[in-house]
Amino acid sequence: MSKSPVTVLGLGAMGTALATAFVTGGHPTTVWNRTPGKAEPLAALGAAAAGDVAAAVTASELVVVCLLDHDSVQETLAPVAAELAGRTLVNLTNGTPAQAREMARWAAGHGIAYVDGGIMAIPPGIGTAQAFLLYSGSRPAFDTFAPALELLGTPHFVGEDPGLAALHDIALLSGMYGMFAGAFHALALVGTERVPAAEFAPMLRDFVTAMAAGIPHYAHQIETGDYASGVVSNIAMQSAGFTNLLDTAESQGLSAELLAALGPLMARRVAEGHGAEDVTGIVELLKR
Ligand code: NDP
Repeated sequence: MSKSPVTVLGLGAMGTALATAFVTGGHPTTVWNRTPGKAEPLAALGAAAAGDVAAAVTASELVVVCLLDHDSVQETLAPVAAELAGRTLVNLTNGTPAQAREMARWAAGHGIAYVDGGIMAIPPGIGTAQAFLLYSGSRPAFDTFAPALELLGTPHFVGEDPGLAALHDIALLSGMYGMFAGAFHALALVGTERVPAAEFAPMLRDFVTAMAAGIPHYAHQIETGDYASGVVSNIAMQSAGFTNLLDTAESQGLSAELLAALGPLMARRVAEGHGAEDVTGIVELLKR
């Protein structure tokens, strides 16, 4: 059976990886990029390079867009709304839930089926077993093109509210940056005493990975609001210990700003009488 044609708009690092996965997966692939020249390696693989956005869009029922940001997507697609009518637009550009919902309203107003997406992989990971992508919006459009989208990584359709893929994406990135903040601080801290990175880095990776195993348990506590059952490391103890992290940074001549937010939150939660509970209870202080 012949495979459905796909158009990819945007040939940055990620768009190029996406287009490569489609073309090597046997889909007739049309590509476009604002700055000419980036299509050449893909053309060598068999992709068709379109001269303008309108030609690219009309080549396929499935149009995948992966540009820098929401503004660049709007700027690129607004002039070709009529050409997109009746097609499926899958927007894999990083954005907020509000931007995704705005795009979905715009698409609905022009008769375009809309699926928003989030890519949980780096470009070399596209098409590997580790890559996964989040999708939300039109379920029928997603189902129609799922065989093509599966080439990019494992697809997770998270709901028909078009903002939900971005919500999941931003939440996962928030977790990643929180982990990076702690890890970068840790590496800088041992660096103050010239501890060899090759010795310390595997310890850090293994410890953080072991601690991450608790995430489903924390998720349950946060979902139920029960921070008091089965506590093994109460927040009063953790809050007392946390001052040692800040004091050590200070005495090693390192700013603790990557960690700074946690200490006062833990201290407040203890002061409000929750010292015997789990540290997850600090999320109650985040709610506005
Ligand atoms: P790049 O910086 O490599 O590429 C950016 C792309 O956007 C280029 O094709 C660029 O075109 C295009 N672009 C920028 N501004 C405009 C504009 N005003 N009009 C038209 N085209 C424009 O970024 P990536 O490819 O890495 O990232 C693309 C998207 O994928 C981003 O939203 C990013 O957050 C997301 N993503 C990236 C990941 C990564 O690790 N790289 C991981 C997960 C998601 P030109 O060549 O003309 O400049």
